[in-house]
Amino acid sequence: MSTWAVIVAAGRGERAGMGRNKVFCDFGGRSVLGRCLSAFQSANLFDGAAIVLSPQDEPLYREICEKEGPFPLVRCIARGGETRRDSVFNGLQALPEDVEIVAIHDAARPFVSREVIEATLISAREYGSGVICTPVVDTIKQLLPDGSVATPDRAALRAVQTPQTFDRAKIAAAHRRAREENLAATDDAMLFEHYYGAVRLVTAPGAEENRKLTNRSDFESDAAASIPDFRVGQGYDAHRLAEGRRLVLCGVEIPHDRGLDGHSDADVAVHALMDALLGALGEGDIGRLFPDSDPQYKGADSMKLLQIVMERVRARGCRVGNADITIVAQRPKLAGFMPRMRERIAEGLGVDETRVNVKATTTERMGFEGEETGISAQAVVLLVKNA
Ligand code: MG
Repeated sequence: MSTWAVIVAAGRGERAGMGRNKVFCDFGGRSVLGRCLSAFQSANLFDGAAIVLSPQDEPLYREICEKEGPFPLVRCIARGGETRRDSVFNGLQALPEDVEIVAIHDAARPFVSREVIEATLISAREYGSGVICTPVVDTIKQLLPDGSVATPDRAALRAVQTPQTFDRAKIAAAHRRAREENLAATDDAMLFEHYYGAVRLVTAPGAEENRKLTNRSDFESDAAASIPDFRVGQGYDAHRLAEGRRLVLCGVEIPHDRGLDGHSDADVAVHALMDALLGALGEGDIGRLFPDSDPQYKGADSMKLLQIVMERVRARGCRVGNADITIVAQRPKLAGFMPRMRERIAEGLGVDETRVNVKATTTERMGFEGEETGISAQAVVLLVKNA
């Protein structure tokens, strides 16, 4: 028994007012159609799929395959028709002979879950049809021909979606006859009902989320909401070089004739890193968190302060994606200390060393770093919100 899907992507998307077929529009970084095809492909429930496209959209489809594919599930392309009914008819015509069960799905529903698809397949195998539905939350009014209004019992109403899955022979015959008899229909279940009686309604986890992207506002609000929660932060610090001080950079003590001056151990690189972390969290800077005026931070080990900042990062449900630190110093030469610095920072951030980079540069004797009045550091971090 071979099971196929017909994915209908030939709509004009006029209601969405996007200037082109909405299934080719971006939704949170991927096309609507790409999302839909991925959902069907990763469900791993089909032997193949036919996609129904308007000829003018074929180049856009190829582009999606290149950028978001490959989609080996799609084994043939059918031409879109005048109406949705014509498009589905063409899709059904394109199926190989041996297909027994066919799931018909609108590409404008990209959030379809595997459970939803499977529920319709199981029902279609047993009863000849399986149409996904949800209870109705709004009270529905019916306008009657005489101008009066009726209120059907909401508990008895269901909103139907796609996939609508059928015995292939029956739905193909229904579509053929509907075409001959010019019977209009807003969905495939209507045609099946007309010729074979009631369809089986099913529901499954994910049905509530299986909504259709229809209007421009569906794209605007949700595209914003679905931006991945990555946060980038930037930090900068500089300290003066002074006699009689230790030089500590990235938690590593470096032999030198002078060290950095400051309230804490003046580890300028870790200070820049902490500012980057706080910046990514949108929580100000280390001056606010560890005031100079507070005696408890006098001579403090900046690596310990980093732990306090990391607690805040974790409390906000984030972890470090990567960190990149640049130390600007004319002297001493830091190259030999880099591996140990990287190790210390990785430890401090609780990540693998491959996510940390520490580098150093001189300014060719220009400016305060070049004149060896001080050392500065810059840091950039990426925080990723835990799923
Ligand atoms: Mg500082």
